[in-house]
Amino acid sequence: MSPPTSPVIVWFRQDLRIKDNPALSAAAESGRPVIPVFILDDESPGKWKAGGASRWWLHHSLTSLASDLKALGAPMVLRSGHSASALDQLVKESGAGAVFWNRCYEPHARERDEDIKSSLKARNIDVQSFNASLLAEPWTVKNKSGDPFRVFSPFWRSVRSELDPGTPLEAPSSLKAPDAALPSENLGDWGLLPTQPDWAKGFEPVWTPGEAGARDRLIGFFDHGARHYAGGRDRPDKPYTSALSPHLHFGEISPRQIFAAIQLVRDEIGEKNAEKFLSEIGWREFSVNLLFHFPHFPERNYQDKFDNFPWIDNQAALKAWQTGQTGYPIVDAGMRELWTTGWMHNRVRMIVASFLIKHLLIDWREGEKWFWDTLVDADLANNSASWQWVAGSGADAAPYFRIFNPITQGEKFDPDGDYVRKWVPEIARLPNKYLNQPWEAGPLILKEAGIELGKTYPEPIVDHKAARDRALMAFQSLKDAA
Ligand code: FAD
Repeated sequence: MSPPTSPVIVWFRQDLRIKDNPALSAAAESGRPVIPVFILDDESPGKWKAGGASRWWLHHSLTSLASDLKALGAPMVLRSGHSASALDQLVKESGAGAVFWNRCYEPHARERDEDIKSSLKARNIDVQSFNASLLAEPWTVKNKSGDPFRVFSPFWRSVRSELDPGTPLEAPSSLKAPDAALPSENLGDWGLLPTQPDWAKGFEPVWTPGEAGARDRLIGFFDHGARHYAGGRDRPDKPYTSALSPHLHFGEISPRQIFAAIQLVRDEIGEKNAEKFLSEIGWREFSVNLLFHFPHFPERNYQDKFDNFPWIDNQAALKAWQTGQTGYPIVDAGMRELWTTGWMHNRVRMIVASFLIKHLLIDWREGEKWFWDTLVDADLANNSASWQWVAGSGADAAPYFRIFNPITQGEKFDPDGDYVRKWVPEIARLPNKYLNQPWEAGPLILKEAGIELGKTYPEPIVDHKAARDRALMAFQSLKDAA
C-alpha cells in the first residue's frame, strides 16, 4: 500500500462543485494532499462525446470550479486524452496513493470506470467511489419481484416513500496541495468555445454555468416560479420552471441539496408545488434507472416492435425542423429557442419531438442527435428516455397514437402568444386567432401583419390532418405486422 501521506487524486466528471461533493470531502478529510483533476476524454464516450452546447457549458463550468478549488488551496489539473492513460500518468507523476470519484451511470462511463478501478487496484492504489448525483442509485430500487421498475409512478412511489438523502455536505474548509505543482493543460487550448461563427452568443445572457450560478438559479426559482410550479410548469411563456437542468447535468448542484432546500421552503411555496417539483427530479432518477438497466436505450427502441416502423428519410424536412422553419409557429418557436439559448421548455420539447416523429415520420434518433448537440442540458439518460417516451417506443411511453396538434397545443399553453411572438417575430403582428395557424388568415390580415407566406414565413411543410392520418397508418402497419 502507498504511504498514508501520499496524495489523493479527486477525479471530477459530472460533479463540478465543491459543496456536497462526497469524493472531494473524503479526500479533504483524509488529511492528505489533494489533486483535483478533470480529464477531457472524447474517446471513451464514442458517439456520445459532449456536443457543441455542452462543450460551451463545460468551459465555463470548469473555469468556475478551478477558481473555487484554487481558493481552497488545491489548484485543478486539466488533462486530455483517454481517461485511463491520463490518470495513470498523473498517478506516476504525483506518486498518488488513492483515486476518488463520484459515480456516473452512462454505460460507457461505467465500463470505463470498472476497467480503471481494476487496473488501479491491481497496483495497490486505493479507489473509492461515491454517490453524488442521485437520490436513489438504480440498484437500490426494485419492485416486489426484485426487478427494475419500468413505469414511473410505482418507481417514484417507492423512492419517495423511503426518501432520506441526509444533510448535504459543506465544502471543505481548505485543501492541502501537493508539494510540487503538477503540469496542467490550458482550458483555452481545448477549443470548447465556438469561434467562427460564435453561435453561443445567445447563451451568455441566459446562463451562468458553475456552482454559484446553480445556487442563484435555485434561489430565484424559490422566490418566483416555484409558487406557480404545479399549475404553471406547462407554460413556456412564463418563467415557472427552475431551468436547473444543465446545472444538474454537470453536477453543479446535487438533488440532495435541492431536496434539503425544498424542505426549508415547503410552507412558502406550497405542498403541491414542492411535491410536483420533487417528482420531476424523480423523472430524472427514473431515466437514469432505465439507462442503467437497459443500456441500449439511447440507440435502440425499448419496444422491439418499433424496429419495423416505416421511418422516412427526409433531409429537407429535418433541416426545416432543426432551423425552426416548419411553418408551425409553436414548433418553430421551440427550435429557435433551442438554437439561441441551448435550452427549450419541456412542454415545447414534447411538441417539437412529437412533430418530428409523427408529423414528419422522422426517426426519433435524429431528434435525439440534434438535441444532443444543441442542448446545454444534453443528458444521455434524460434525452433518450424522453425521446422514446414521445415516440411511444419506450418504457412507460406516451401511446404512439396520441399525436399532439401543434395548433391547439400552441393556443392552450401559450394563450396570449407571448412565447411565439418572442421567437418568431416575423409573425408577431398577427392577431391571436391566427398566430398558431397563419395560413388560415386571409390576404388582408396577412398583409396588415406584414407577412407574405412562403417568403417572410414558411407555408406549413405538412398538412396537420393528412400528417396525422399518415402517422396513424404507419402505426397501424406495426400492429398488422405483429
Ligand atoms: P423543471 O421543471 O424545473 O424540473 C426540475 C428538474 O427535473 C430538471 O432540471 C430536470 O433535471 C428534471 N426533469 C424535469 N422534467 C424531466 C423529464 N421529463 N425527464 C427527466 N428529467 C426531468 N432533460 C435533460 O435534463 N436533458 C435532456 O437531454 C433532455 N432531453 C429531453 C428531450 C425531450 C424530447 C423531452 C420531451 C424532454 C427532455 N428533457 C431533458 C426533460 C425536460 O424537458 C428537461 O429536464 C426540463 O425541460 C428542464 O427544465 P427545468 O430545469 O426548468 O425543469
